[in-house]
Amino acid sequence: MSKYDVAVIGSGPGGYVAAIRCAQLGMKTAIIEKYSTLGGTCLNVGCIPSKALLDSSHHYEDAVKHFEEHGIEIPGEIKVNLEKMIARKQSVVDQTTGGIDFLMKKNNIDVYEGLGRFKDATHITIKGKETIEIEAKNIIIATGSKPASLPFISIDKERIITSTEALKLKEIPKHLIVIGGGVIGLELGQVYKRLGSEVTVVEYMDRIVPTMDKGVSKELNKIFKKQKLKINTSHKVKSVERKGDEVIVKADNKKGEEVEIKGDYCLVSVGRRAFTDGLNAEAAGVKLTDRGLVDVNEHLQTSASNIYAIGDVIKGAMLAHKAEEEGVFVAETLAGQKPHIDYNLIPGVVYTWPEAASVGKTEEQLKEAKIEYKTGQFPMRALGRSRASMDLDGFVKVLADKNTDEILGVHMVGARAADMIAEAVVAMEYRASAEDVSRMSHAHPTFTEAIKEAALAATDDRALHI
Ligand code: FAD
Ligand code: NAD
Repeated sequence: MSKYDVAVIGSGPGGYVAAIRCAQLGMKTAIIEKYSTLGGTCLNVGCIPSKALLDSSHHYEDAVKHFEEHGIEIPGEIKVNLEKMIARKQSVVDQTTGGIDFLMKKNNIDVYEGLGRFKDATHITIKGKETIEIEAKNIIIATGSKPASLPFISIDKERIITSTEALKLKEIPKHLIVIGGGVIGLELGQVYKRLGSEVTVVEYMDRIVPTMDKGVSKELNKIFKKQKLKINTSHKVKSVERKGDEVIVKADNKKGEEVEIKGDYCLVSVGRRAFTDGLNAEAAGVKLTDRGLVDVNEHLQTSASNIYAIGDVIKGAMLAHKAEEEGVFVAETLAGQKPHIDYNLIPGVVYTWPEAASVGKTEEQLKEAKIEYKTGQFPMRALGRSRASMDLDGFVKVLADKNTDEILGVHMVGARAADMIAEAVVAMEYRASAEDVSRMSHAHPTFTEAIKEAALAATDDRALHI
Protein backbone atom coordinates (compact mmCIF):
# COMPACT_ATOMS: atom_id res chain seq x y z
CA MET A 1 0.00 0.00 0.00
CA SER A 2 1.36 3.47 -0.92
CA LYS A 3 1.90 5.78 2.04
CA TYR A 4 1.82 9.57 1.96
CA ASP A 5 2.37 12.53 4.21
CA VAL A 6 -0.71 14.14 2.68
CA ALA A 7 -3.57 12.94 0.49
CA VAL A 8 -5.88 15.50 -1.07
CA ILE A 9 -9.39 14.41 -2.11
CA GLY A 10 -10.62 16.54 -5.02
CA SER A 11 -8.59 18.39 -7.64
CA GLY A 12 -10.39 21.72 -7.95
CA PRO A 13 -8.56 25.02 -7.30
CA GLY A 14 -8.58 24.21 -3.59
CA GLY A 15 -7.27 20.67 -3.92
CA TYR A 16 -4.66 21.03 -6.65
CA VAL A 17 -3.20 24.20 -5.11
CA ALA A 18 -3.05 22.50 -1.68
CA ALA A 19 -1.24 19.55 -3.29
CA ILE A 20 1.32 21.79 -5.02
CA ARG A 21 2.05 23.76 -1.84
CA CYS A 22 2.37 20.52 0.22
CA ALA A 23 4.82 19.16 -2.37
CA GLN A 24 6.76 22.45 -2.39
CA LEU A 25 7.09 22.12 1.38
CA GLY A 26 8.62 18.67 1.02
CA MET A 27 5.64 16.46 1.81
CA LYS A 28 5.01 13.26 -0.12
CA THR A 29 1.66 14.08 -1.68
CA ALA A 30 -1.19 12.30 -3.50
CA ILE A 31 -4.29 13.77 -5.10
CA ILE A 32 -7.48 11.83 -5.81
CA GLU A 33 -10.00 12.93 -8.45
CA LYS A 34 -13.10 11.02 -9.49
CA TYR A 35 -13.19 12.54 -12.99
CA SER A 36 -10.64 11.86 -15.72
CA THR A 37 -9.61 15.52 -15.92
CA LEU A 38 -8.14 17.55 -13.09
CA GLY A 39 -9.20 21.09 -12.14
CA GLY A 40 -12.62 20.51 -10.57
CA THR A 41 -15.68 22.66 -11.12
CA CYS A 42 -13.67 25.79 -11.81
CA LEU A 43 -11.64 24.54 -14.74
CA ASN A 44 -14.10 22.05 -16.21
CA VAL A 45 -17.60 23.48 -15.76
CA GLY A 46 -17.18 26.77 -13.91
CA CYS A 47 -14.89 29.79 -14.01
CA ILE A 48 -12.92 28.99 -17.15
CA PRO A 49 -15.63 27.76 -19.57
CA SER A 50 -18.06 30.48 -18.47
CA LYS A 51 -15.43 33.16 -19.08
CA ALA A 52 -14.60 31.61 -22.47
CA LEU A 53 -18.25 31.93 -23.52
CA LEU A 54 -18.53 35.41 -22.02
CA ASP A 55 -15.56 36.46 -24.13
CA SER A 56 -16.85 34.85 -27.35
CA SER A 57 -20.33 36.30 -26.95
CA HIS A 58 -18.82 39.70 -26.13
CA HIS A 59 -16.87 39.66 -29.41
CA TYR A 60 -20.07 38.79 -31.28
CA GLU A 61 -22.04 41.56 -29.63
CA ASP A 62 -19.29 44.06 -30.37
CA ALA A 63 -19.20 43.00 -34.01
CA VAL A 64 -22.98 43.31 -34.38
CA LYS A 65 -23.61 46.41 -32.30
CA HIS A 66 -20.44 48.45 -31.98
CA PHE A 67 -18.05 47.87 -34.86
CA GLU A 68 -19.92 50.18 -37.21
CA GLU A 69 -19.60 53.09 -34.80
CA HIS A 70 -15.85 52.43 -34.68
CA GLY A 71 -15.76 52.70 -38.46
CA ILE A 72 -15.41 48.97 -39.05
CA GLU A 73 -17.69 47.65 -41.73
CA ILE A 74 -18.25 43.94 -42.19
CA PRO A 75 -19.98 43.15 -45.48
CA GLY A 76 -22.69 40.51 -45.15
CA GLU A 77 -24.42 39.10 -42.14
CA ILE A 78 -22.50 38.36 -38.95
CA LYS A 79 -23.53 34.94 -37.69
CA VAL A 80 -22.95 32.83 -34.61
CA ASN A 81 -21.65 29.31 -35.08
CA LEU A 82 -22.61 27.96 -31.66
CA GLU A 83 -21.01 24.57 -32.25
CA LYS A 84 -17.68 26.25 -32.99
CA MET A 85 -18.04 28.62 -30.06
CA ILE A 86 -18.66 25.71 -27.68
CA ALA A 87 -15.76 23.76 -29.25
CA ARG A 88 -13.40 26.71 -28.67
CA LYS A 89 -14.57 26.88 -25.06
CA GLN A 90 -13.80 23.16 -24.72
CA SER A 91 -10.32 23.58 -26.17
CA VAL A 92 -9.63 26.33 -23.61
CA VAL A 93 -10.81 23.95 -20.88
CA ASP A 94 -8.66 21.10 -22.26
CA GLN A 95 -5.54 23.27 -22.38
CA THR A 96 -6.16 24.50 -18.85
CA THR A 97 -6.83 21.09 -17.30
CA GLY A 98 -3.83 19.71 -19.20
CA GLY A 99 -1.78 22.38 -17.48
CA ILE A 100 -2.74 20.90 -14.11
CA ASP A 101 -1.51 17.45 -15.23
CA PHE A 102 1.81 19.12 -16.01
CA LEU A 103 1.92 20.83 -12.61
CA MET A 104 1.22 17.55 -10.80
CA LYS A 105 4.08 15.83 -12.65
CA LYS A 106 6.43 18.77 -12.12
CA ASN A 107 5.82 18.62 -8.36
CA ASN A 108 6.03 14.79 -8.14
CA ILE A 109 2.45 14.50 -6.92
CA ASP A 110 0.85 11.08 -7.42
CA VAL A 111 -2.52 11.40 -9.16
CA TYR A 112 -5.21 8.77 -8.55
CA GLU A 113 -8.34 8.67 -10.72
CA GLY A 114 -11.37 7.37 -8.85
CA LEU A 115 -13.84 8.15 -6.09
CA GLY A 116 -12.07 8.62 -2.77
CA ARG A 117 -13.84 7.11 0.21
CA PHE A 118 -12.67 7.16 3.83
CA LYS A 119 -12.03 3.73 5.32
CA ASP A 120 -10.87 5.39 8.53
CA ALA A 121 -9.01 8.57 9.48
CA THR A 122 -5.77 7.56 7.73
CA HIS A 123 -6.90 5.22 4.93
CA ILE A 124 -8.72 6.05 1.71
CA THR A 125 -10.21 3.56 -0.70
CA ILE A 126 -10.07 4.75 -4.30
CA LYS A 127 -12.65 3.26 -6.60
CA GLY A 128 -11.48 3.79 -10.16
CA LYS A 129 -10.79 1.27 -12.91
CA GLU A 130 -9.66 -0.91 -10.04
CA THR A 131 -10.08 -0.40 -6.32
CA ILE A 132 -6.97 0.43 -4.32
CA GLU A 133 -6.22 1.76 -0.89
CA ILE A 134 -3.70 4.38 0.22
CA GLU A 135 -2.56 5.54 3.60
CA ALA A 136 -1.91 9.17 4.57
CA LYS A 137 -0.85 10.85 7.79
CA ASN A 138 -2.88 13.93 6.89
CA ILE A 139 -5.85 14.27 4.55
CA ILE A 140 -7.34 17.38 2.96
CA ILE A 141 -10.99 17.23 1.87
CA ALA A 142 -11.46 19.45 -1.18
CA THR A 143 -14.53 17.84 -2.71
CA GLY A 144 -16.21 21.10 -3.73
CA SER A 145 -19.83 21.67 -4.59
CA LYS A 146 -22.64 20.77 -7.01
CA PRO A 147 -25.56 22.88 -8.26
CA ALA A 148 -28.40 23.24 -5.78
CA SER A 149 -32.03 23.18 -6.84
CA LEU A 150 -35.47 23.73 -5.34
CA PRO A 151 -37.46 20.79 -3.98
CA PHE A 152 -40.21 21.08 -6.60
CA ILE A 153 -37.89 21.36 -9.61
CA SER A 154 -36.80 18.33 -11.52
CA ILE A 155 -33.65 19.11 -13.49
CA ASP A 156 -33.88 17.08 -16.71
CA LYS A 157 -30.54 18.44 -18.06
CA GLU A 158 -32.21 19.06 -21.45
CA ARG A 159 -34.61 21.97 -21.02
CA ILE A 160 -34.51 22.46 -17.27
CA ILE A 161 -30.79 22.82 -16.78
CA THR A 162 -27.95 23.84 -14.46
CA SER A 163 -24.86 25.85 -15.38
CA THR A 164 -23.11 22.63 -16.46
CA GLU A 165 -25.57 22.06 -19.33
CA ALA A 166 -25.82 25.79 -20.09
CA LEU A 167 -22.12 25.70 -20.98
CA LYS A 168 -22.69 23.20 -23.79
CA LEU A 169 -26.09 23.88 -25.35
CA LYS A 170 -26.61 22.71 -28.92
CA GLU A 171 -28.87 25.62 -29.88
CA ILE A 172 -29.39 29.20 -28.82
CA PRO A 173 -32.55 29.32 -26.68
CA LYS A 174 -35.40 31.42 -28.00
CA HIS A 175 -36.36 32.35 -24.48
CA LEU A 176 -34.12 31.41 -21.56
CA ILE A 177 -35.73 31.71 -18.15
CA VAL A 178 -33.13 32.08 -15.42
CA ILE A 179 -34.14 31.24 -11.86
CA GLY A 180 -31.79 33.12 -9.51
CA GLY A 181 -30.28 36.53 -10.25
CA GLY A 182 -26.92 35.70 -8.68
CA VAL A 183 -23.53 35.37 -10.33
CA ILE A 184 -24.22 32.35 -12.53
CA GLY A 185 -27.64 33.55 -13.62
CA LEU A 186 -26.35 36.95 -14.68
CA GLU A 187 -23.14 35.75 -16.36
CA LEU A 188 -24.77 32.95 -18.35
CA GLY A 189 -27.95 34.98 -18.87
CA GLN A 190 -25.85 37.66 -20.50
CA VAL A 191 -24.03 35.13 -22.71
CA TYR A 192 -27.30 33.96 -24.27
CA LYS A 193 -28.81 37.45 -24.39
CA ARG A 194 -25.84 38.55 -26.49
CA LEU A 195 -26.28 35.54 -28.77
CA GLY A 196 -29.90 36.50 -29.44
CA SER A 197 -32.04 34.77 -26.79
CA GLU A 198 -34.76 36.54 -24.93
CA VAL A 199 -33.69 36.24 -21.28
CA THR A 200 -35.91 36.58 -18.22
CA VAL A 201 -34.34 36.48 -14.77
CA VAL A 202 -36.55 35.55 -11.82
CA GLU A 203 -35.03 36.49 -8.47
CA TYR A 204 -36.48 35.80 -5.03
CA MET A 205 -34.82 38.75 -3.25
CA ASP A 206 -35.65 42.42 -3.90
CA ARG A 207 -32.43 42.90 -5.88
CA ILE A 208 -30.03 40.98 -8.10
CA VAL A 209 -26.64 39.88 -6.66
CA PRO A 210 -28.10 40.50 -3.20
CA THR A 211 -24.84 39.78 -1.38
CA MET A 212 -23.04 42.69 -3.04
CA ASP A 213 -23.32 46.38 -2.15
CA LYS A 214 -26.83 47.69 -2.90
CA GLY A 215 -25.40 50.37 -5.18
CA VAL A 216 -23.79 47.67 -7.33
CA SER A 217 -27.07 45.74 -7.59
CA LYS A 218 -28.92 48.91 -8.58
CA GLU A 219 -26.38 49.92 -11.21
CA LEU A 220 -26.25 46.42 -12.73
CA ASN A 221 -30.03 46.28 -12.80
CA LYS A 222 -30.19 49.59 -14.67
CA ILE A 223 -27.54 48.47 -17.16
CA PHE A 224 -29.10 45.04 -17.78
CA LYS A 225 -32.48 46.67 -18.39
CA LYS A 226 -30.81 48.82 -21.06
CA GLN A 227 -29.38 45.61 -22.50
CA LYS A 228 -32.98 44.30 -22.61
CA LEU A 229 -32.55 41.54 -20.06
CA LYS A 230 -35.88 41.14 -18.27
CA ILE A 231 -35.35 41.13 -14.53
CA ASN A 232 -38.11 40.21 -12.09
CA THR A 233 -37.05 40.71 -8.48
CA SER A 234 -39.14 39.80 -5.40
CA HIS A 235 -40.58 36.82 -7.29
CA LYS A 236 -41.07 33.53 -5.48
CA VAL A 237 -40.90 30.65 -7.93
CA LYS A 238 -43.40 27.92 -7.07
CA SER A 239 -43.36 25.58 -10.04
CA VAL A 240 -41.29 24.70 -13.08
CA GLU A 241 -42.89 22.40 -15.56
CA ARG A 242 -41.82 21.03 -18.90
CA LYS A 243 -44.32 20.39 -21.70
CA GLY A 244 -42.50 19.06 -24.75
CA ASP A 245 -40.03 21.75 -25.78
CA GLU A 246 -41.68 24.35 -23.59
CA VAL A 247 -40.85 25.21 -19.99
CA ILE A 248 -43.42 26.99 -17.84
CA VAL A 249 -42.32 28.80 -14.69
CA LYS A 250 -44.90 30.03 -12.22
CA ALA A 251 -44.00 32.51 -9.51
CA ASP A 252 -45.72 34.86 -7.07
CA ASN A 253 -44.74 38.50 -7.48
CA LYS A 254 -44.36 41.09 -4.71
CA LYS A 255 -48.12 41.69 -4.61
CA GLY A 256 -48.77 37.96 -4.27
CA GLU A 257 -50.13 37.68 -7.82
CA GLU A 258 -49.25 34.62 -9.87
CA VAL A 259 -46.99 35.27 -12.84
CA GLU A 260 -46.51 32.70 -15.60
CA ILE A 261 -43.41 32.77 -17.80
CA LYS A 262 -43.04 30.51 -20.81
CA GLY A 263 -39.71 29.74 -22.43
CA ASP A 264 -37.85 26.93 -24.16
CA TYR A 265 -35.03 26.58 -21.60
CA CYS A 266 -34.87 27.21 -17.86
CA LEU A 267 -31.54 27.67 -16.10
CA VAL A 268 -31.72 26.91 -12.40
CA SER A 269 -29.00 28.95 -10.67
CA VAL A 270 -30.10 29.29 -7.06
CA GLY A 271 -26.73 28.50 -5.48
CA ARG A 272 -24.59 25.43 -4.95
CA ARG A 273 -24.39 22.79 -2.22
CA ALA A 274 -21.34 21.28 -0.60
CA PHE A 275 -20.49 17.89 -2.12
CA THR A 276 -19.61 15.01 0.21
CA ASP A 277 -21.56 12.19 -1.48
CA GLY A 278 -19.75 8.87 -1.31
CA LEU A 279 -16.99 10.27 0.91
CA ASN A 280 -18.02 8.26 3.98
CA ALA A 281 -16.85 11.13 6.18
CA GLU A 282 -18.31 9.59 9.33
CA ALA A 283 -15.94 6.60 9.08
CA ALA A 284 -13.07 9.05 9.65
CA GLY A 285 -14.85 10.90 12.44
CA VAL A 286 -15.43 13.98 10.25
CA LYS A 287 -18.56 15.88 11.26
CA LEU A 288 -20.79 17.79 8.88
CA THR A 289 -22.88 20.85 9.76
CA ASP A 290 -26.69 20.87 9.55
CA ARG A 291 -26.33 22.38 6.09
CA GLY A 292 -24.12 19.51 4.91
CA LEU A 293 -20.85 21.46 4.96
CA VAL A 294 -17.71 19.89 6.41
CA ASP A 295 -17.35 21.49 9.83
CA VAL A 296 -13.96 23.11 10.43
CA ASN A 297 -12.29 25.23 13.12
CA GLU A 298 -10.16 28.35 12.55
CA HIS A 299 -7.26 26.15 11.37
CA LEU A 300 -9.59 24.52 8.81
CA GLN A 301 -9.21 21.33 10.80
CA THR A 302 -12.21 18.99 10.96
CA SER A 303 -13.42 17.05 13.99
CA ALA A 304 -10.72 14.48 13.09
CA SER A 305 -7.43 16.19 14.01
CA ASN A 306 -5.38 14.96 11.01
CA ILE A 307 -8.10 15.81 8.47
CA TYR A 308 -8.60 19.32 7.07
CA ALA A 309 -11.16 20.73 4.62
CA ILE A 310 -11.05 23.65 2.20
CA GLY A 311 -13.00 25.41 -0.56
CA ASP A 312 -16.66 25.07 -1.47
CA VAL A 313 -17.17 22.11 0.86
CA ILE A 314 -16.72 24.35 3.94
CA LYS A 315 -18.32 27.62 5.05
CA GLY A 316 -17.70 30.91 3.29
CA ALA A 317 -17.85 32.27 -0.23
CA MET A 318 -17.83 29.66 -2.99
CA LEU A 319 -14.98 31.17 -4.97
CA ALA A 320 -11.97 29.61 -6.65
CA HIS A 321 -9.48 32.09 -5.16
CA LYS A 322 -10.90 31.55 -1.66
CA ALA A 323 -10.40 27.79 -2.14
CA GLU A 324 -6.83 28.41 -3.33
CA GLU A 325 -5.96 30.56 -0.32
CA GLU A 326 -7.31 27.84 1.95
CA GLY A 327 -5.28 25.19 0.12
CA VAL A 328 -2.07 27.11 0.78
CA PHE A 329 -3.18 27.84 4.36
CA VAL A 330 -3.62 24.15 5.20
CA ALA A 331 -0.37 23.10 3.51
CA GLU A 332 1.58 25.72 5.44
CA THR A 333 -0.19 24.79 8.69
CA LEU A 334 0.86 21.16 8.15
CA ALA A 335 4.43 22.36 7.62
CA GLY A 336 4.35 24.02 11.05
CA GLN A 337 3.97 27.56 9.74
CA LYS A 338 1.45 30.13 10.98
CA PRO A 339 -0.41 31.27 7.85
CA HIS A 340 -3.29 33.74 7.83
CA ILE A 341 -6.27 34.46 5.59
CA ASP A 342 -8.19 37.73 5.80
CA TYR A 343 -11.63 36.65 4.58
CA ASN A 344 -12.74 40.29 4.53
CA LEU A 345 -10.28 40.85 1.70
CA ILE A 346 -11.40 38.06 -0.65
CA PRO A 347 -12.74 40.01 -3.63
CA GLY A 348 -15.98 39.10 -5.39
CA VAL A 349 -16.44 39.61 -9.12
CA VAL A 350 -19.31 39.31 -11.60
CA TYR A 351 -17.89 38.87 -15.10
CA THR A 352 -20.75 40.40 -17.05
CA TRP A 353 -20.04 43.47 -19.17
CA PRO A 354 -19.63 45.84 -17.59
CA GLU A 355 -18.06 43.84 -14.79
CA ALA A 356 -18.82 44.31 -11.11
CA ALA A 357 -16.31 43.83 -8.31
CA SER A 358 -16.22 44.31 -4.57
CA VAL A 359 -13.93 43.93 -1.62
CA GLY A 360 -14.37 44.65 2.08
CA LYS A 361 -17.55 45.85 3.71
CA THR A 362 -20.68 46.98 1.88
CA GLU A 363 -22.59 50.08 2.97
CA GLU A 364 -25.28 47.80 4.38
CA GLN A 365 -22.74 45.93 6.52
CA LEU A 366 -21.18 49.16 7.81
CA LYS A 367 -24.60 50.54 8.74
CA GLU A 368 -25.51 47.32 10.52
CA ALA A 369 -22.21 47.34 12.45
CA LYS A 370 -22.83 51.02 13.27
CA ILE A 371 -19.45 52.03 11.85
CA GLU A 372 -19.30 55.68 10.81
CA TYR A 373 -18.08 55.96 7.23
CA LYS A 374 -17.77 58.38 4.37
CA THR A 375 -18.37 57.67 0.71
CA GLY A 376 -16.50 58.76 -2.40
CA GLN A 377 -18.03 57.81 -5.72
CA PHE A 378 -16.87 58.53 -9.24
CA PRO A 379 -18.73 57.73 -12.47
CA MET A 380 -16.85 55.85 -15.20
CA ARG A 381 -18.36 58.12 -17.86
CA ALA A 382 -16.23 61.03 -16.62
CA LEU A 383 -13.03 59.25 -17.72
CA GLY A 384 -11.31 59.84 -21.03
CA ARG A 385 -10.51 56.12 -21.20
CA SER A 386 -14.21 55.26 -20.92
CA ARG A 387 -15.12 57.58 -23.75
CA ALA A 388 -12.34 56.18 -25.95
CA SER A 389 -13.69 52.66 -25.61
CA MET A 390 -17.35 53.68 -25.25
CA ASP A 391 -17.61 51.86 -21.92
CA LEU A 392 -19.45 54.61 -20.09
CA ASP A 393 -21.51 52.67 -17.56
CA GLY A 394 -20.67 52.18 -13.90
CA PHE A 395 -18.81 53.79 -11.04
CA VAL A 396 -16.17 53.24 -8.39
CA LYS A 397 -17.24 53.73 -4.77
CA VAL A 398 -14.74 53.96 -1.93
CA LEU A 399 -16.02 53.61 1.64
CA ALA A 400 -13.64 54.94 4.29
CA ASP A 401 -13.77 55.20 8.05
CA LYS A 402 -15.17 58.62 8.96
CA ASN A 403 -12.58 59.19 11.68
CA THR A 404 -9.42 57.44 10.51
CA ASP A 405 -9.92 57.55 6.70
CA GLU A 406 -8.98 53.84 6.46
CA ILE A 407 -10.57 52.21 3.41
CA LEU A 408 -13.23 49.77 4.57
CA GLY A 409 -14.77 48.73 1.26
CA VAL A 410 -14.46 49.32 -2.48
CA HIS A 411 -17.30 48.53 -4.86
CA MET A 412 -17.30 49.06 -8.58
CA VAL A 413 -19.17 48.45 -11.79
CA GLY A 414 -17.38 49.09 -15.04
CA ALA A 415 -15.13 47.88 -17.80
CA ARG A 416 -12.28 45.75 -16.37
CA ALA A 417 -13.54 46.06 -12.79
CA ALA A 418 -12.46 42.42 -12.31
CA ASP A 419 -8.83 43.44 -12.76
CA MET A 420 -9.12 46.85 -11.12
CA ILE A 421 -10.34 45.44 -7.80
CA ALA A 422 -6.82 44.09 -7.17
CA GLU A 423 -5.66 47.63 -6.45
CA ALA A 424 -8.27 47.94 -3.71
CA VAL A 425 -7.25 44.58 -2.24
CA VAL A 426 -3.59 45.63 -2.06
CA ALA A 427 -4.51 49.00 -0.56
CA MET A 428 -6.73 47.42 2.07
CA GLU A 429 -4.22 44.66 2.86
CA TYR A 430 -1.79 47.45 3.79
CA ARG A 431 -4.59 49.31 5.60
CA ALA A 432 -4.32 52.32 3.32
CA SER A 433 -6.38 55.43 3.91
CA ALA A 434 -8.45 56.95 1.11
CA GLU A 435 -5.93 59.81 1.10
CA ASP A 436 -3.04 57.34 0.57
CA VAL A 437 -4.67 56.04 -2.61
CA SER A 438 -5.67 59.52 -3.75
CA ARG A 439 -2.02 60.63 -3.60
CA MET A 440 -0.73 57.77 -5.77
CA SER A 441 -0.16 58.34 -9.46
CA HIS A 442 -2.56 56.38 -11.68
CA ALA A 443 -1.60 56.08 -15.34
CA HIS A 444 -3.64 58.20 -17.73
CA PRO A 445 -5.80 57.30 -19.51
CA THR A 446 -6.88 54.19 -17.62
CA PHE A 447 -10.05 52.99 -15.94
CA THR A 448 -8.09 52.90 -12.66
CA GLU A 449 -8.21 56.70 -12.54
CA ALA A 450 -11.77 56.22 -11.27
CA ILE A 451 -10.30 54.60 -8.12
CA LYS A 452 -8.05 57.59 -7.49
CA GLU A 453 -10.95 59.98 -8.11
CA ALA A 454 -13.29 58.04 -5.81
CA ALA A 455 -10.56 58.05 -3.14
CA LEU A 456 -10.18 61.82 -3.59
CA ALA A 457 -13.96 62.18 -3.25
CA ALA A 458 -13.90 60.10 -0.06
CA THR A 459 -10.91 62.01 1.39
CA ASP A 460 -12.49 65.44 1.35
CA ASP A 461 -14.89 65.55 -1.54
CA ARG A 462 -12.29 66.82 -3.97
CA ALA A 463 -12.52 64.65 -7.08
CA LEU A 464 -10.76 66.52 -9.88
CA HIS A 465 -12.68 65.53 -12.98
CA ILE A 466 -16.29 65.97 -11.95
P1 FAD B 1 -14.33 22.03 -6.94
O1 FAD B 1 -13.74 22.91 -7.95
O2 FAD B 1 -15.78 21.80 -6.97
O3 FAD B 1 -13.54 20.66 -7.04
C1 FAD B 1 -13.88 19.55 -6.29
C2 FAD B 1 -13.38 18.31 -7.00
O4 FAD B 1 -13.48 17.20 -6.12
C3 FAD B 1 -14.19 17.94 -8.24
O5 FAD B 1 -13.34 17.78 -9.34
C4 FAD B 1 -14.87 16.64 -7.86
O6 FAD B 1 -15.04 15.76 -8.95
C5 FAD B 1 -13.89 16.07 -6.85
N1 FAD B 1 -14.47 15.13 -5.92
C6 FAD B 1 -15.59 15.28 -5.16
N2 FAD B 1 -15.76 14.21 -4.34
C7 FAD B 1 -14.74 13.38 -4.61
C8 FAD B 1 -14.35 12.11 -4.08
N3 FAD B 1 -15.03 11.52 -3.10
N4 FAD B 1 -13.26 11.52 -4.60
C9 FAD B 1 -12.53 12.11 -5.59
N5 FAD B 1 -12.84 13.31 -6.11
C10 FAD B 1 -13.93 13.93 -5.62
N6 FAD B 1 -15.39 31.10 -8.85
C11 FAD B 1 -14.59 32.14 -9.03
O7 FAD B 1 -13.80 32.48 -8.13
N7 FAD B 1 -14.58 32.86 -10.20
C12 FAD B 1 -15.42 32.54 -11.21
O8 FAD B 1 -15.40 33.19 -12.24
C13 FAD B 1 -16.29 31.46 -11.05
N8 FAD B 1 -17.14 31.10 -12.03
C14 FAD B 1 -17.95 30.02 -11.87
C15 FAD B 1 -18.82 29.69 -12.90
C16 FAD B 1 -19.66 28.62 -12.77
C17 FAD B 1 -20.60 28.26 -13.88
C18 FAD B 1 -19.61 27.83 -11.58
C19 FAD B 1 -20.49 26.62 -11.44
C20 FAD B 1 -18.76 28.14 -10.56
C21 FAD B 1 -17.92 29.26 -10.68
N9 FAD B 1 -17.05 29.65 -9.67
C22 FAD B 1 -16.25 30.73 -9.84
C23 FAD B 1 -16.97 28.91 -8.40
C24 FAD B 1 -15.75 27.98 -8.42
O9 FAD B 1 -15.86 27.09 -9.50
C25 FAD B 1 -15.67 27.21 -7.11
O10 FAD B 1 -15.71 28.10 -6.02
C26 FAD B 1 -14.40 26.40 -7.05
O11 FAD B 1 -14.31 25.48 -8.11
C27 FAD B 1 -14.30 25.63 -5.72
O12 FAD B 1 -13.13 24.90 -5.70
P2 FAD B 1 -12.99 23.56 -4.83
O13 FAD B 1 -11.59 23.11 -5.04
O14 FAD B 1 -13.45 23.80 -3.46
O15 FAD B 1 -14.00 22.52 -5.46
P1 NAD C 1 -25.65 32.78 -5.98
O1 NAD C 1 -25.74 32.53 -4.54
O2 NAD C 1 -24.68 33.75 -6.51
O3 NAD C 1 -27.06 33.26 -6.53
C1 NAD C 1 -28.23 32.55 -6.31
C2 NAD C 1 -29.38 33.52 -6.46
O4 NAD C 1 -30.57 32.76 -6.47
C3 NAD C 1 -29.47 34.50 -5.29
O5 NAD C 1 -29.60 35.81 -5.80
C4 NAD C 1 -30.68 34.04 -4.54
O6 NAD C 1 -31.37 35.09 -3.90
C5 NAD C 1 -31.50 33.44 -5.67
N1 NAD C 1 -32.50 32.46 -5.24
C6 NAD C 1 -32.37 31.53 -4.26
N2 NAD C 1 -33.52 30.83 -4.16
C7 NAD C 1 -34.37 31.32 -5.09
C8 NAD C 1 -35.70 31.01 -5.47
N3 NAD C 1 -36.40 30.06 -4.85
N4 NAD C 1 -36.25 31.71 -6.48
C9 NAD C 1 -35.56 32.69 -7.12
N5 NAD C 1 -34.30 33.03 -6.78
C10 NAD C 1 -33.72 32.35 -5.79
O7 NAD C 1 -25.47 31.34 -6.66
P2 NAD C 1 -25.16 30.92 -8.15
O8 NAD C 1 -25.31 32.06 -9.08
O9 NAD C 1 -25.96 29.69 -8.38
O10 NAD C 1 -23.64 30.54 -8.06
C11 NAD C 1 -23.20 29.50 -7.17
C12 NAD C 1 -21.86 29.80 -6.60
O11 NAD C 1 -20.87 29.80 -7.59
C13 NAD C 1 -21.85 31.16 -5.94
O12 NAD C 1 -21.54 31.00 -4.59
C14 NAD C 1 -20.79 31.92 -6.61
O13 NAD C 1 -19.92 32.53 -5.71
C15 NAD C 1 -20.04 30.91 -7.45
N6 NAD C 1 -19.80 31.55 -8.74
C16 NAD C 1 -18.93 32.58 -8.77
C17 NAD C 1 -18.73 33.26 -9.95
C18 NAD C 1 -17.79 34.40 -9.98
O14 NAD C 1 -16.99 34.53 -9.07
N7 NAD C 1 -17.83 35.25 -10.98
C19 NAD C 1 -19.41 32.90 -11.10
C20 NAD C 1 -20.32 31.85 -11.02
C21 NAD C 1 -20.49 31.19 -9.82
